[in-house]
Amino acid sequence: MSTGSYETVIIGGGPAGLTAGLYLCRSRIKTVLLEKQMTGGQAVNSPLIENYPGFPDGIDGMELTSLFKLQADNFGLETRNFEAVTSVDVTNGFKTLKTDKEEINTPAIIVATGRSPKKMGIPGEDKYMGKGISYCATCDGPLFKDKRVMVIGGGDSAVEEALHLTNFAGKVIIVHRRDELRASGYLQERALSEPKLEIIWNSEIREVRGDSVVEEAIIENNVTGETSEVPVSGIFFYVGNTPNSSFLSEMVELDKPGYITTDENLETSVPGIFAAGDVRSNPFKQVVIATGEGALAAMSAQRYLEKTGARAAYKGDAK
Ligand code: NAP
Repeated sequence: MSTGSYETVIIGGGPAGLTAGLYLCRSRIKTVLLEKQMTGGQAVNSPLIENYPGFPDGIDGMELTSLFKLQADNFGLETRNFEAVTSVDVTNGFKTLKTDKEEINTPAIIVATGRSPKKMGIPGEDKYMGKGISYCATCDGPLFKDKRVMVIGGGDSAVEEALHLTNFAGKVIIVHRRDELRASGYLQERALSEPKLEIIWNSEIREVRGDSVVEEAIIENNVTGETSEVPVSGIFFYVGNTPNSSFLSEMVELDKPGYITTDENLETSVPGIFAAGDVRSNPFKQVVIATGEGALAAMSAQRYLEKTGARAAYKGDAK
């Protein structure tokens, strides 16, 4: 196993991590970004991002994050895809990260690992994963051309993805546990006027049934207690997310659901470890907020390196 050394290590290659990389490399700070999959983060699953400034007609999430990556690459960001961090150790302020491939020493870390879709844990959910059950309408929507599909949840993700699914499916049914959507007003307006979209209110999915693939969902009305069997070929779950922070083994302070808490400069409870983007304890999860936090975390990390003298030790070694 090889050992490397960087002034800053960024963990996670979504909008926050890529922006942090851009800022650090532009400041000529020797940085590596480690990403357990491919860069882009959850935003790549968004077919149309309408609220990132600078793109008045909206932009595909994959395209937007590719531009983030290109801009960081232009300043020399070193990126390692498919390299997951398994542990972080801190001794006398110096950090050692272990991945499945190497060990890296660094004085500063920016955690930008985002969130993952939450599972509901209902019967049939695991069994039909990839056989009609999905957490990504952008990836799997085209498989359901002219079919009936169901979306579970009433937030921005559920409604945005349900609207996207109307481009392929013959009918899209949103099942929401209350009588009012959580999604933003503009999305609600679009959903309520979309003829291919039906909303089943005050209802929860209890089970997914089928033979070799999804055939029906068992839905319970939580006001009347009535259950019904709704025939569908696909079910997309958007019932929230869980933070990707468990690899830190609670080394830094977390809030109750597991998001990383920071001060206003995005420094965690461990000096020299910063957090940015969706993994940070912050009620608003937006690409524009993640990029802003990536920039702030990078500038705070730079200040930390200078304050502690760690920068001087690397001068001349940076790219
Ligand atoms: P969310 O806002 O947490 O919404 C989750 C939805 O799932 C809610 O409607 C919730 O119902 C429902 N739900 C949760 N647990 C459930 C359960 N056990 N059974 C049935 N339904 C359940 O999650 P999100 O939509 O993924 O959004 C997360 C964050 O990302 C938000 O801050 C959102 O604004 C942001 N986001 C923004 C955009 C955008 O700006 N374009 C796009 C996507 C996401 P209740 O409403 O009853 O709680």
